[in-house]
Amino acid sequence: MSYPVYIVDTLEGSPACCNRFTGEVFLAKDVCETLPYTYVVFIILHECAHIEIGTTDESRADSLAFYRYAALGLPLSDAVFALTKILNCDISQSNFIAEHEKRINDQYNRVLWYDANINKYPLSIKKYKDLQKC
Ligand SMILES: [Zn+2]
Repeated sequence: MSYPVYIVDTLEGSPACCNRFTGEVFLAKDVCETLPYTYVVFIILHECAHIEIGTTDESRADSLAFYRYAALGLPLSDAVFALTKILNCDISQSNFIAEHEKRINDQYNRVLWYDANINKYPLSIKKYKDLQKC
């Protein structure tokens, strides 16, 4: 699937959005031009996932976007950093949102699973097995 991506000046603090009905993705130049390209790739894949599976569920969009991102061979850690940069995960901040912390933790677990089971990275295999014991 491919969707047109339009670059707009701003989306008032958000890096991107999509229209699930028209299949259009909008990227905010003011935010995205400050981010590494790998973060922007993940953000685009996240918006495309919303369209492709027709959902407003952020976790489902993160999940599909992650597997598409990983298949590109880009640094897996940047798939986590993209979320930590965009989503507020500082519990001391008044705008802390628990769902954001959960999305970041879920993303970390996807990276660990992928690195252990697909990349067969020994340290990740050990960490993944240790997590399964908890
Ligand atoms: Zn989203």
